[in-house]
This record gives sequence, structure tokens and C-alpha cells, in this order.
Amino acid sequence: MSGYSLTTLTAGKTTIASSVVEALASQLSGSILAAGDAGYDDARAIWNGMVDRRPGLIIRCRTTMDVVSAVRFAADNGLLVSVRGGGHGIAGNAVCDGGLMIDLSAMKSVRVDASNQRAWVEPGATLADLDKETQAAGLIVPTGVNSTTGIAGLTLGGGFGWITRKFGLTLDNLVSVEVVTADGEVRRASATQEPDLFWGLRGGGGNFGVVTAFEFRLHKLGPQVLSGLVVHPLADAETVLKEYRQALELAPDELTCWAVMRQAPPLPFLPEEWHGKEVLILAMCYCGDMAEGEKATARLRSIGTPIADVVGPAPFTAWQQAFDPLLAPGARNYWKSHDFASLGDKTISLLVGAARSLPGPECEIFIAHVGGEAGRVAADATAFPQRSSHFVMNIHARWREREMDQACIGWARALFDAARPFSVGTAYINFMPADEVDRVQEAYGGSYQRLAMLKQRYDPANLFRMNQNVMPARSTKAA
Ligand SMILES: Cc1cc2nc3c(=O)[nH]c(=O)nc-3n(C[C@H](O)[C@H](O)[C@H](O)COP(=O)(O)OP(=O)(O)OC[C@H]3O[C@@H](n4cnc5c(N)ncnc54)[C@H](O)[C@@H]3O)c2cc1C
Repeated sequence: MSGYSLTTLTAGKTTIASSVVEALASQLSGSILAAGDAGYDDARAIWNGMVDRRPGLIIRCRTTMDVVSAVRFAADNGLLVSVRGGGHGIAGNAVCDGGLMIDLSAMKSVRVDASNQRAWVEPGATLADLDKETQAAGLIVPTGVNSTTGIAGLTLGGGFGWITRKFGLTLDNLVSVEVVTADGEVRRASATQEPDLFWGLRGGGGNFGVVTAFEFRLHKLGPQVLSGLVVHPLADAETVLKEYRQALELAPDELTCWAVMRQAPPLPFLPEEWHGKEVLILAMCYCGDMAEGEKATARLRSIGTPIADVVGPAPFTAWQQAFDPLLAPGARNYWKSHDFASLGDKTISLLVGAARSLPGPECEIFIAHVGGEAGRVAADATAFPQRSSHFVMNIHARWREREMDQACIGWARALFDAARPFSVGTAYINFMPADEVDRVQEAYGGSYQRLAMLKQRYDPANLFRMNQNVMPARSTKAA
């Protein structure tokens, strides 16, 4: 009898007859791929080029009922499962080795109801897919800063970017979700329907099921925002960052400014002699009236003697794509991240020192500026725990050659360890690499126990474990 040998939840193997897989395929609107099929290698390739896993089967879902069939098939056969939204997760949990990958990337529809300021979004949509539809109506959901990121993973873990300070995290703008839980049931979760599940889905990542639709609240925006870069020599970075820190104390919610230290890419507005040299980039966006934006950004733009200042009006959708060329898929990537309540002198000098010894031309340290509206939400209102942190630092090691693995990963880890005393202790789960399994509890801080109880209720067998995994409350170790 021909069949498929698939990895189980307990890391064993089971054989599923071809006739069973064919019967499953006949129920689907989407399709099933196995090794050797056209499209199999494309489907298993994700953003982080370090992840090269081979699922036993990939179900390319087209509908919610496809997801139901996939989840029931996995649960009935005790299969290891991974869930792929946009495929940008740094940890690579979207793809499993040998098990069943539930691929949502073909479910990309976005529907906007402009009069009620709502959007319904399928889980394979990218930020660009969402921005395109919402901005056509002059509306927006606050998301992240790289337009090829998937809305699904980003929302379930948090979601912050250029307009978070004004409108909150992406998950703060969720009104409801449709989710297929581990028992194969389709549920709706909102403030009034299964509110506990809704709490957990807002920050709990992929732990509670496969989300098949997101309903978002929309805000008016643009279409133009005041945005752009101010670039300084790294030699001035300590002084500039100290003034940056002070300028941000007075920043209105409309203003967000991230600091990035890296080698200068060959951007057309930078004098050629700066290409490849270490720089500090202040990347800013003001999402309100242009004249007010000029006033609000003036202090940041008057710091020191920049190499370039290219801040001006731009369509928000263009600004959302500004960093895409630096973050294209396929490179090898490793991240380490900390949350900071503030940027002390010692933190600044540590980060600038590390930027002087970047291990490669694509490596960077960025400091995301959050707070504002996102910081005013009560810490226990959603499962996302780190409302008090004003800055999220990400050490982004990025390189091409396998031989550089040790140097790049080692650099990121050393800086992470050195910066730990200055952090608040929580972490953004969407920035956590695969080797931070034992940091999940610490990352969730005060939300962890409630998440573990919910996990016990909705996924007691821990079917959805390829994520920043929360153990069902009864378990004391990995099931
Ligand atoms: C280049 C780049 C830029 C980024 N910039 C930002 C940023 O500005 N702000 C920010 O907040 N984050 C940012 N991130 C982090 C991003 O939020 C996470 O990588 C997120 O997991 C991406 O979601 P995805 O759907 O693309 O990823 P995937 O790898 O497909 O999914 C990640 C995990 O989410 C879960 N998941 C995905 N879809 C579903 C679903 N439908 N139902 C249930 N679980 C699901 C699964 O556990 C999966 O393993 C960035 C990431 C990258 C690579």
C-alpha cells in the first residue's frame, strides 16, 4: 500500500495511506502538495533563508472549510502541524519538518466597509495587500514597517509600526476573529463572543487555533504623511541619540521616530563616499497635519550635522514600502530583542559600541519607538504584556554566506547578553528566534498563567505548538 510517512506530535512517524490523502484532497477547494510536486519548494520557502524544512504534506487552503479539514486531519492522526500566514516569522515556525503545514498564503482577500470603518482580512494577506485596499478609502489599520510581512502573525503577536503611537497596536484594533480551534470547530471571538479566547488571541500568537478572518477597526489617514530619513555619521551617534531621547519625551502621538545603526546602503541621496560606512539613521513619520508635522519634527531634524535629511510629504503606502528593498526574503537572518522603558546613557553607549563592530554589511541594530496610545491600554486588557516599554530594540543580524553564521549569531547574542541589565524583562514574541523557547514565559510576564489556562481549555493536546509555545496549564513539560 502506498502512503505518506508523516511526523507526529510526539516526534515519531506514522504512515497515512495515499487513498486517505486523496480523499482529503477531494474535499478541498485548495490543494495538497508533497515533495516532488510542482510548487512544493516555493510553498515551503519563507522569509528567513536559514529555514530549510520539508513538510510531509502541505495543504494550501482556500477557504475556512479547508482549514477545518486540515486541522481535523492533523488532530485525528496526531500530526505535527505548522501554520503559515505571510511566512515572515523569524523563528521559522511556519514550516515543519515531516509534519503537516497549513499554508494560508492563498487566502488573501481584504474587504473594506468604508462607511462603518471596518475591514475583513484573510490570513494570507500582507501589510501591502491591506494598505492598498484601506488607503483607497483614505483609511488605515496600524501595522508594521515592512509591507511584505503577513498580517496574521503580526496581529496575533502584537503589531507596531509608524502609526502605533497614534492608533495603538494592530491587535488593539481587532474587533473580532474567525478561528478554527484544535477540535476543528469554527468559532467567532470578540469582546462579547468567547471573550477569553479573544483576549488570548490578542498577543498569544498561534497558540489557540488557525485564524481564518480578522475584523479590524479602521482610522482615517493621509493619503500623505510627513516621513523620511535623517542620516548621521556613526561617530556622532552617542550625542545624537541622547538628544533624540530628549526630543521624544515631548513627541505627540502623531510622531514616531525609529533609530537604526548600520552600514549605509547606496541610497541615491547619500554622497557616494558614505556608501558602506557606519551611520545612524533616524527614520520618522508624522501622521497628521503637514504644518504641525514640520513643527513636531523640527527638533529631531535640528540635532547635530546630518549627512542627509530627506524628510517630506509622501504617500503612506510608499513610506510603508520604503524599507522593503533592505528586507527582501531569502537572506540568512537571526534576531535578538529587548524591551526598554527608556534609553539610558549606558544603553546608548553599549549599542553604539556594538554598531562599530557590525559583522556584515546588512547587519543592523534598530530601536523602535512605541508608547503613545499603545502604552495607554491596560496591561491585562489583552495577552500582549509589555505596555510600559517605550522602545523595542532588535539586533538584526542578516547575511548571505553560511560561513558567516557563527560570527553573525555570536555578535547578536553577545550584544543581547550585555544589554539585558537595561531591559524591562519582557520581550516581543514576534521578534524571538527559534532558540528562545525557554524565554516564552518571561516574555509574557503577567499574562502567562492566564494564557496557559486558556491553552488547556482550547488546545489541551498542544496541537498548535510550532509557535512561541504556551504549555497547557496542566502540563509541566512539552507534551
Ligand atoms: C522583514 C520583517 C519586518 C518586520 N517588521 C515588523 C514591524 O515593523 N512590526 C512588527 O510588529 N513586527 C514586525 N515583524 C515581525 C512580524 O510581526 C512577525 O515576523 C510575524 O510573525 C509575521 O507574521 P507572518 O504571518 O508573516 O509570519 P508566519 O511565519 O507565517 O507566521 C508566524 C507565526 O504566526 C502564527 N500564525 C501565522 N498565521 C496564523 C493564523 N492565521 N492563525 C494562527 N496562527 C498563525 C504561527 O504560529 C506562525 O508560525 C517583521 C518581520 C520581518 C521578517
